[in-house]
Amino acid sequence: MLTDITQKRRHSVSVKIGSVTIGGNAPIVVQSMTNTDTADAEATAKQVQQLAAAGSELVRITVNNEDAASQVINIREKLDAMGCQVPLIGDFHYNGHQLLTKYPQCAEALAKYRINPGNVGFGRKKDSQFLTMIEKAIEYKKPVRIGVNWGSLDQELLTRMMDENAKLKDPLDAEDVMKEALIVSAISNAQRAEEIGLPRDHIVLSCKVSGVQKLISVYRELARRCDYALHLGLTEAGMGSKGIVASTAAMGVLLQEGIGDTVRVSLTPEPGGDRTKEVVVAQEILQTMGLRSFTPLVTACPGCGRTTSTVFQELADNIQAYVRSQMPIWREQYEGVEDMTLAVMGCVVNGPGESKHADIGISLPGTGEAPTAPVFIDGKKAMTLRGNNIAGEFREIVDNYVKQRFSGRTSV
Ligand code: SF4
Repeated sequence: MLTDITQKRRHSVSVKIGSVTIGGNAPIVVQSMTNTDTADAEATAKQVQQLAAAGSELVRITVNNEDAASQVINIREKLDAMGCQVPLIGDFHYNGHQLLTKYPQCAEALAKYRINPGNVGFGRKKDSQFLTMIEKAIEYKKPVRIGVNWGSLDQELLTRMMDENAKLKDPLDAEDVMKEALIVSAISNAQRAEEIGLPRDHIVLSCKVSGVQKLISVYRELARRCDYALHLGLTEAGMGSKGIVASTAAMGVLLQEGIGDTVRVSLTPEPGGDRTKEVVVAQEILQTMGLRSFTPLVTACPGCGRTTSTVFQELADNIQAYVRSQMPIWREQYEGVEDMTLAVMGCVVNGPGESKHADIGISLPGTGEAPTAPVFIDGKKAMTLRGNNIAGEFREIVDNYVKQRFSGRTSV
């Protein structure tokens, strides 16, 4: 019998972030982060809205100085005025204790705080500054992510663990000690937060590294040792296909093992690139793994010597962009539409087979084939398109199918 991978999901404590739940039995949540200057409330609110419209269920903003902290409430109000309810997460580092104390509206407007235990402070101040941030989270009833990062690991902890390791009869590799330090930093700080009084169901953990194999081994161990909800992501994944492939490879393995309650894909946008790409990639990882559905996906053949034009590639691209652009409206009106499947194939020799497996499939003419494009709906040949407007007519067919099949299914 085939195993349903959703049955293998690791048990975790569920955490409420505003209207969104992370962990427990909740669907895996997609989140993202802005790259605007938070002090620029206009630009930040606009980007948060774009990320939310693309499907980001939580959006993190950096709160790195007083200008940023003072604008958080404005950002929240601008979003509310736009009808965008997405919960905002504040990313705090060395001065988080001061900013959360001095700007109560900021502390209140945020739905969650991210604290990096490696960047809380130095020496004796570290403990008191961590304490203040957790006390603010308790005061404002906000959950916290204890977010440990390979590049900013608590150096005092690491030095102590390296020294202890050096005294062992069979010392571990330095890299294994670092991995252990990441896990110890996350879990011990979470336990300390609980001792201070932050409820267990207000804590999310992450241990981000930039290497695929390291991420897999660290999260497997983290998942084995605790039941806190886990935020999963490969830090500094990189640009373009490298970032996408590395994130997918690392997260795919862990998600398949039921590890990860919320995901963020840390892509470096190309110059002038669209920040929402990280949301699309996160959704596609979850959807192609069968863990969640967000938007109808288009199956397309790779093309081969049978295809002499780019028509089918353009149609596949065009129809994927179209259904994605329609989703903000369709999601409201047509329940279940995200599960619709589409296929765009490059010839009528092999295309119809794949087309029949999709809800709607089209096979474009290959080299030497008659200039006709058979369309299959629900596995049966429904019509044949001809002429110069095949893309427009196919879009109309998709629109009509959505209306007929998914109308009236929306629950109140
Ligand atoms: S469906 Fe046709 S065009 Fe596409 S890869 Fe297969 S044989 Fe080639």
